[in-house]
Parts: sequence; C-alpha cells; structure tokens
Amino acid sequence: MLIHRCAGCSEPGVDLCRRCRFALVASPPVTTASGIVAATEFAGLGRELVVGLKYRNRRRLADHLAEQLSRRLDPTQIDVITWAPTSRQRTRRRGYDQAELLARALAARWRKPCRRMLYRSHGDAQTGQSRASRLIGPQFAARPLRHPPRILVVDDVVTTGATLHAAEAALLAAGARSVTLAAVAATPDGPPRRNGPRLVRSMPVAPSPCLHLVPSLATMSGDVA
Ligand SMILES: [Zn+2]
Repeated sequence: MLIHRCAGCSEPGVDLCRRCRFALVASPPVTTASGIVAATEFAGLGRELVVGLKYRNRRRLADHLAEQLSRRLDPTQIDVITWAPTSRQRTRRRGYDQAELLARALAARWRKPCRRMLYRSHGDAQTGQSRASRLIGPQFAARPLRHPPRILVVDDVVTTGATLHAAEAALLAAGARSVTLAAVAATPDGPPRRNGPRLVRSMPVAPSPCLHLVPSLATMSGDVA
C-alpha cells in the first residue's frame, strides 16, 4: 500500500506537514522582471510541491499552493479567475490540468467564479522547447467578452513569462478590463535581463523590452512554428 507522505519532507500521513506549511508561508514572494507575481521560487520546497502537483498526481497540493498564492494577491481587484491551459496532450496524459486545479482552488478560497476563457490556438507544451520558442510561447485565443471583467490568469510555473503574457494579450484583445498574471512558482533564472539580478523579490521593475514584444507576437497567427 502506498503511504501518503508530506510532499516537502516525506513525513508520513499528510499532504504537507505543519513544518513545511510554515516554511511555505514564510517563503518570500517573487516578482519576475516582467511584473508577474509568483507565490514562491521554483526551488527547494516550492519546486517539490509544484513537481508533486504536476508530475506525481498529488492534486491536493493545489489547495496549499493556491492558499499561498492568495496571500500575494488582492481579491477585490479580481472579478473572475482563469488559467493558462496546458496542452491537450499533456492534460490527457495526466488526467488533469494543474493550472486549472490551481485556479479552481483559488476561486473556491475567494468564492469567486472560475471559468475557462483561453484556448490554445497554436503551440505545444513549453517544457523541452528551445529558449527562443519558449520566449514566443504558445498562442491563445479567447472568446469576445461582453461584460469586460477584471481577470486573474493563474499558471503553475513562470519561466520566461511568455505563456502568461500571451494569455494576457488574448484576454485584452477579447475585451478584458484588466488582466493580472500570477504563478505559484517562478524559476530562479527568470526572464532575461541585461543588468542586475535576474529575479527581483517583491519589487516590480520596468518590464523587459524583449518581453514587450511577446503579446503582439502572440496575437499574430500562423507565423510561429
Ligand atoms: Zn514536511
């Protein structure tokens, strides 16, 4: 019989033990160079939890990660929550979309609506692609929005920010009033910057000019392999 263990330290009998829960709460938030808020770094405990959720079928970790993400965001600025959908092949293979689980867990916590608003119009899963194609990212489409809501887009890990910025572009094009981007974890190397640290903790900085191009690229169709 499979013994249930803490995803952080392997203590038996729990999804996440008390000590690891405290460690998660104490972990500093991260804001990427392009202004995306992440609950924690994709390293150490944060990495263990995301990997557990994403690759080890530990779906109940979504609630712990959503709880941590909720501390970083202001729900009064959000009308509806959605997620950056994982590719169809991945979702089918895993049996779930981890970004959707996170969005739904956060929505339940805030008692706000959670809706699928984005569709992948082009592009496959990001892992394993070259950095150049990851910077361009997948392309998303969104149906026109009749009542422009303030939308929060949730993802599991932010690396270059291309996926979330593509989602933002699609939602703004569809008529969203505002779009907030958030991930539960940010990779330590983050988006490319010429000077200074590559990742800035809890301090928004000017968007990288290179990532500014991403939304417009993402809305163009048929030109990205
Ligand atoms: Zn633990």
